[in-house]
Amino acid sequence: MKCALVRPDGTTVHTERHPTDAGRGPDAVVETILDVAEGLAGKARADGLDPVALGIAVPGVVDEAAGVAVWSANVGFRDVPLRDLAAARLGLPTALGHDVRVGGLAEARLGAGRGTGHVLFVAIGTGIAAAHVVDGVAATGAHGAAGEIGHILVRPGGPRCGCGRDGCLEAVASASAIARRYAEATGAGPTGATGGGGPTGTPASAADVADRAAAGEPAAAGVWAEAVEALADGLATGQSLYDVESIVVGGGLAQAGPRLFDPLRAALHERMTFHRRPRLVAAALGDEAGCLGAALLALDAR
Ligand SMILES: [Zn+2]
Repeated sequence: MKCALVRPDGTTVHTERHPTDAGRGPDAVVETILDVAEGLAGKARADGLDPVALGIAVPGVVDEAAGVAVWSANVGFRDVPLRDLAAARLGLPTALGHDVRVGGLAEARLGAGRGTGHVLFVAIGTGIAAAHVVDGVAATGAHGAAGEIGHILVRPGGPRCGCGRDGCLEAVASASAIARRYAEATGAGPTGATGGGGPTGTPASAADVADRAAAGEPAAAGVWAEAVEALADGLATGQSLYDVESIVVGGGLAQAGPRLFDPLRAALHERMTFHRRPRLVAAALGDEAGCLGAALLALDAR
């Protein structure tokens, strides 16, 4: 859990990290969240600050209007009324958001999308998810599940996705998919035991694949190019739907820098026929985006 005290102008005055320990079960995780939040409010008061609102962001499916964490695979939440629990414990106006949507909110208002009214934020890590932010507000969808751009079908009959369908964007182009596909292409098992892995015998990561592609290794170049093409297909679909000014890419894969952005920008622009070309830029807030976005959501909800 990343936690912060944030001023209304978006500056962070204090940060903390705490283990989630999801293995203890969802009830214990909720108790920890409430304890940590209470501790942060106490810390603020001790420092002469006046906490005015609390924002919490969780992964999965989040019903922001109801303040309920509907479903979250990694922490085991099922219909947890987290907003009301936290508001009752702390006595502060509280907002509950979705981790990628609040990240997008922060990038759109304070980060790489600042100054543009229509932003598509895309986080590429173990999965791929997006947030569509218009004039500083992220759309949630009717069921709290908007932005699942990773499950756009880009390669019918392609690799199996975690959702059970074949050929989703994230099955080809997430950081984990890139590492897995490279291991497959080089004959290395998931453990990298037969070679093709990293220098220490660990499997090559997506960043390693980017390095090797840049160095001209054919297998890496092939996997990387396929990922870039698939991402361009997914982002082009996003642009067809949303007609944004800026597409902001964050998450682990954005660390690849120009090795990702240069070919991706070219491939995306190739796909724009009558659509306006969006700016394609790297996220600017890094790790802090989630905390800042949760704070923005809380301030908006006051
Ligand atoms: Zn899928």
